[in-house]
Amino acid sequence: MRLALFDNYRLGVVAEAGMVDVTSAVPGWDTAFATNSWVRLCHSFESLRPRIEEVASRGHAVPLTDVRLRAPVLNPSKIVAAASNYGAHVDEMRSRGSGGGGWELDFDVFLKAPSAIIGPEDTIQLPDVGDREVHHESELAFVIGKSAKNVPVERALEYVLGYTILVDVTVRGEGDRSRRKSYDGFCPIGPWITTADEVGDPHALEIRLHVNNTERQRVNTGTMLTKIPAMIAYASRVMTLNPGDVLTTGSPAGVGKVEAGDTIVAEIEKIGLLRVKVGGGAKV
Ligand code: MN
Repeated sequence: MRLALFDNYRLGVVAEAGMVDVTSAVPGWDTAFATNSWVRLCHSFESLRPRIEEVASRGHAVPLTDVRLRAPVLNPSKIVAAASNYGAHVDEMRSRGSGGGGWELDFDVFLKAPSAIIGPEDTIQLPDVGDREVHHESELAFVIGKSAKNVPVERALEYVLGYTILVDVTVRGEGDRSRRKSYDGFCPIGPWITTADEVGDPHALEIRLHVNNTERQRVNTGTMLTKIPAMIAYASRVMTLNPGDVLTTGSPAGVGKVEAGDTIVAEIEKIGLLRVKVGGGAKV
C-alpha cells in the first residue's frame, strides 16, 4: 500500500488510477492538526489497515496531477541519518579531503532537523552559504511504525512501517553535520510511503538521481555498508525511535552541486519518483 498526504493534509492511498481519499478511515483525523492523527496512523497501522483498505476499495481515484502531494511524514520527533554508508561515497569524500581525522568517514548516525522537511514539487530555497557548495544526496529512507528501544538486529525490520525517498541536501565542507544539513528546505521527502510488505527486501532496490536530466547517482541498496537492521539496532541503543520517526540510510557516490534553476529527480525502485526544484541563492 502507498500512503500519502495530500491537499490540506488529507490521508490518501495511491492506486493505479490515482489518489483515493481515505481520511475517514482514521477516526478523528483533524486536517488542521494532522500530526497527531498521522502519528496514530503510524502507531496503529496494522489495526487500521482493514478499514483503510475498505474505504480505498469504495473510493474514487483522482488523477495525481489534480492533487497536491505533501511530504508523507508530519513533524517526526527526529530524522536519524546515516553517514558514510556506501564505500564509493566514502572514497569520494576522502578524495575531496573530507574527514581528515578519519572518524568522520566511519559509519555513524546524526540528527537532521524535521523543520527542514519539504514535499514533492516544493522548492529548495538555497541559503547564502558564501563560497560553499550545496549538494544533493539521494537516499532510501524509512518510517518507524512502533516504539523501538534496544532492538536486536534480527527483529529490527518489524519496526519499519514503510519506505520513502529522501534527498539529504547538504552544505559541503567543514562544520557540524546537523547544522550543514538542517537549513529550511534541506529535507525533501516523498512522494509517499510504500508499506514494508510491498517493498519486500529493502536491500535490492535501485536508487537513481538526476539533476536536469543528467544522471548523477545510481546504486543498488544491496551495497549499503551498514544495513537497515543494524542501523535500527545501533540507533535504538542510543535513543527511543518513536512511531513516525524517519531514518535515512546515507548517500551513494555521485554527490554534486545544485544551483538555482535546477530540478532534482530522485527515484527508487518499488517506491516511485520525488521531484523538487531549486530556487533562491545569489546566482540565478
Ligand atoms: Mn546523507
